[in-house]
Amino acid sequence: MTDSFNRIIDYLRISVTDRCNLRCVYCMPPNGVRPVPHSEILSFEEILRLAGIMAGLGIRKIKVTGGEPLTRRGTVDFIRRLKKTEGIEKVTITSNGVLLDACLEELVEAGIDGINISLDSLDRETFTRVTRGGSGDFARLQNLLGRVKNLSARESGRRVPRKQGCPPDGAAARRPVSIKINCVPLRGINEEGLVNLAAIAKDSNIAVRFIELMPLGCAAGLEFIPGREVAAILEKTFGELKPFFEKLGEGPAVYYSLEGFQGKIGFINPLSHNFCETCSRLRLGSTGILIPCLACEKGLDLRTRLRGGAGDEALAQAIAELVSLKPARHAFGAKEDKNAAARGDCAAGAARENQGMFKIGG
Ligand code: SAM
Ligand code: SF4
Repeated sequence: MTDSFNRIIDYLRISVTDRCNLRCVYCMPPNGVRPVPHSEILSFEEILRLAGIMAGLGIRKIKVTGGEPLTRRGTVDFIRRLKKTEGIEKVTITSNGVLLDACLEELVEAGIDGINISLDSLDRETFTRVTRGGSGDFARLQNLLGRVKNLSARESGRRVPRKQGCPPDGAAARRPVSIKINCVPLRGINEEGLVNLAAIAKDSNIAVRFIELMPLGCAAGLEFIPGREVAAILEKTFGELKPFFEKLGEGPAVYYSLEGFQGKIGFINPLSHNFCETCSRLRLGSTGILIPCLACEKGLDLRTRLRGGAGDEALAQAIAELVSLKPARHAFGAKEDKNAAARGDCAAGAARENQGMFKIGG
């Protein structure tokens, strides 16, 4: 499916919960949020139905996110079922890693194609500061890191559905699970440890990515470090970052190689380099609101339609209409930009800045 700016929309991010076991300073308020009652959250059955309808419209890749997706019971099994949805080619997950150690093998066996782990520091004190007290989880993450390094190195042992002629009959194709570490660099908080984080990519096939802080919710009081500044810090220690043009995922990250590194270094720079013109995403919130852009405050209420008995065709039509309304670009950090409306920017961008990412799914 394409939107009115001719962008192909084939990527859906599904937030399965807005609850989380951490309280990252840039995402959640210190005391958490009032949990949304279970009755207001889409059941996995409902999400699977929507995923099937959207696959029929052209969605091919799905990211499972949250809140922390692994805090919801049944997420791994849900992923297994998503993978079986006709038309869906890739299912990946973004997690803070705390509960990942316990279900890593199960996830791989369920067919997960990629695992993104959010980790902002390898230093216990800094990690505790960023997560507002997650020090008890730090050891678990250290253990997890060792395991995912191995996972990224070995073939996962999963069978890849055979496409005609490749691989030859009888041969079982196997592919590794893609592992990425995501870090949000924060001025005066974790900047000293960025080099250590990047070094994870030296002796493992893990991509380490640096994401510019977006001014949402409690992130508003924090200072972002532009991607180019992070790049300069890394180059001082590791030498020149050389552009790497192969595609490593579905998102807007730009990748680089470093001499002697097995893994790549990635940058996601939504503020310093707007990449909306290549955006292929829709976002389904845990309560069933589908939004066409991170910056859009209002979206399509699919829960009410689902529970009101709407048929697949009516749902598909409503989703296609929403896609046609996808704005040209977000307006974060551009409150004063007089050209925003003329460009077709999301008008709600400024209002959206009051919400945390845990509600939107990153
Ligand atoms: N809990 C999971 C996790 O942390 O990976 C999934 C949800 S989290 C909202 C998804 C991603 O959004 C994480 O990589 C997190 O670092 C990122 N994120 C949260 N708030 C952000 C912000 N204000 N700016 C940029 N990235 C943010
Ligand atoms: Fe939770 Fe992820 Fe937000 Fe951190 S970034 S508070 S782990 S949802």
